Amino acid sequence: MRNIPELFGSMVFNDEVMQERLPQETYQALRRTMQNGKHLDPNVASVVANVMKDWAIEKGATHYTHWFQPMTGITAEKHDSFITPAEGGRVIMEFSGKELIKGEPDASSFPNGGLRSTFEARGYTAWDPTSYAFIKDETLCIPTAFCSFGGEALDEKTPLLRSMEVVSKQALRVVRLFGNEDVTMVRTTVGPEQEYFLIDKAMYDRRKDLINTGRTLFGARPSKGQELDDHYFGAIKSRVSAYMRDLDEELWKLGVLSKTEHNEAAPAQHEMAPIFTTTNIAADHNQLAMELMKKVAARHGMVCLLHEKPFAGVNGSGKHNNWSLSTDTGVNLLEPGETPHQNAQFLLFLCAVIRAVDEYQDLLRISVAGAGNDHRLGAAEAPPAVVSIFLGDELTAILEAIEQGTAYDANEKVIMKVGVHTLPRFPKDTTDRNRTSPFAFTGNKFEFRMLGSSKSVSGPNVVLNTAVASVLDDFATQLEGAEDFQAALDTLIRRTIKEHKRIIFNGNGYDDAWLQEAAHRGLLNLPTTPDCLPYLVHEKNVALYEKYRVYNATELRSRYEVNLETYAKVLHIEAHTMVSMTQKDIVPAVVRYGRELAETIVAKKAAIATLDCAAEEELLTRVHTLTGTLCQNLQTLRDRLAAADALTGDGQMVANFYRDEIIPAMEALRQAADGLEVLVAKDRWPFPSYGDILFSVR
Ligand code: ADP
Ligand code: MG
Repeated sequence: MRNIPELFGSMVFNDEVMQERLPQETYQALRRTMQNGKHLDPNVASVVANVMKDWAIEKGATHYTHWFQPMTGITAEKHDSFITPAEGGRVIMEFSGKELIKGEPDASSFPNGGLRSTFEARGYTAWDPTSYAFIKDETLCIPTAFCSFGGEALDEKTPLLRSMEVVSKQALRVVRLFGNEDVTMVRTTVGPEQEYFLIDKAMYDRRKDLINTGRTLFGARPSKGQELDDHYFGAIKSRVSAYMRDLDEELWKLGVLSKTEHNEAAPAQHEMAPIFTTTNIAADHNQLAMELMKKVAARHGMVCLLHEKPFAGVNGSGKHNNWSLSTDTGVNLLEPGETPHQNAQFLLFLCAVIRAVDEYQDLLRISVAGAGNDHRLGAAEAPPAVVSIFLGDELTAILEAIEQGTAYDANEKVIMKVGVHTLPRFPKDTTDRNRTSPFAFTGNKFEFRMLGSSKSVSGPNVVLNTAVASVLDDFATQLEGAEDFQAALDTLIRRTIKEHKRIIFNGNGYDDAWLQEAAHRGLLNLPTTPDCLPYLVHEKNVALYEKYRVYNATELRSRYEVNLETYAKVLHIEAHTMVSMTQKDIVPAVVRYGRELAETIVAKKAAIATLDCAAEEELLTRVHTLTGTLCQNLQTLRDRLAAADALTGDGQMVANFYRDEIIPAMEALRQAADGLEVLVAKDRWPFPSYGDILFSVR
């Protein structure tokens, strides 16, 4: 193993490198830009660009790219080399300040949800100097935001940066009320835990469904899949541990604080958790991590699956978004404090999150929506599609006591007063026991657990930041004008608990009774992506985003369209892949197998006329009947796909059609095929089985 401190960040143009290489005043100017989000002076940019280029060339880079995150969920890059023609047919390596700050990719090649027709096709990318440049594949990558020429966000980063500014501004007003004058900025912090599957490349190559869609569209459940887990996965297998070591090294080189690598619940499933950092950097790093997971897997003869549900009947993959707020003086605002005063501040921030989650349940649900994640939410393995908050019994009891003005500690008979009494410490293990909650308080942060494994974490954090900012804005306004701060604070906290406690649920989120109870409480239950997406353009949500300039109405409309389109596209590809696999592989295999059985029966009877071939006949009958069902179901899916292609309605209608007509037809087709897989001899089945795939890496 190499020297890790030396390896760490070795491919990053980080603060240390800047300090070492930039002229003092350039460095100071750049730091100011990074801290205050001010515009970068063009002269400063030129100096930075030049130094960055020299550093990158020393590290073997020949190209640079503006690295950005369009609304595809993955990153995009367009490589340009540093070469510039010089006299005598030579070239020199150049990189200007202008090239560093701004790029101009063609916006029309990326999802834009109609922004293209209303605005110019060109887009531009702009450097996010708060996220360090880095080298990947001999290319200097500059983290950038991506906008249309009209300034509309076309990516994940732009709204995230906007939301971070907004929450900082409002949180600052609140901490000031508590006398914290030295704080100049509040950051949200994120630590995303990332789940993934690792399978053997040879198996993957034999599955068109995995290749085309990232998940298996067929596959009989292994008779002993989940039960075998602990048996098979007590220790990390050597191929996997070699992979994890390699992955960690790659991540460390890029300054990603990869901390934990371990096996997950399902066979072949694993997890990587980094140490938390500032949200936009955490989002960039998570994108890098997903990219590297795939790349490193290829080096090890494996494939990394990031799909939310690669295997039916086997746990899917999610992402846990650990989120908190922290001041630039190093105080975690969701950490219960030592003094009554600190606790009052903690309680106010806690209440802000509770109210924000209650008021914007719909936006949180939308932020994790997608065809892939629809397989998980509510499937008794991931939190339900209903958003609720887990606080733990102790904190819930405290809030109840505050709300009702009753004694919290029965022995002491004291009435807990905000700002007068201290809260007990919440040991981590008492706050983190519930794994079924979508949104759990885990001692000093909230863990949002509904995220799917494949998507950027930006979207959910945009919602959290903006929703919490809007509540903090309201809190600050009420408290700033109060004559008696203490009394106003007390009233505000009590009222917030009273009005929003319906979102708090400490029980089992997998329980059906909870869904009934949630409906009774008036909480939203939006099981599928087409169910929730319309809420994105509801008046209340447009008003929120417009007020804080995180999205304007046009941007929201465009995101609504892009999401609907993506949903329909994913299902379109899946359904067509199923049709093709059935027609080209499954039907020929089962027909051939039927013939083999028939020939066997004939041959046996020819050999000994009196032989009873009941078993073969029964098998043949079952294969024959199920093949009939398979072909019928195939035709139904075909017909419905033709109907889908002929639809001329709006995106919502198309998405609804895929949900209501295509998905059930896909399920019926799959059921027949999986039934046949169980009947047909293993060596006659055209694809590797679930058992083959899930236990392929040894
Ligand atoms: P576990 O959930 O496995 O018990 P932890 O709760 O310690 O582990 O951490 C889970 C994730 O939460 C890690 O990525 C960690 O860095 C992150 N995390 C810890 N504190 C914070 C915080 N204040 N803000 C955001 N993320 C955090
Ligand atoms: Mg956790």
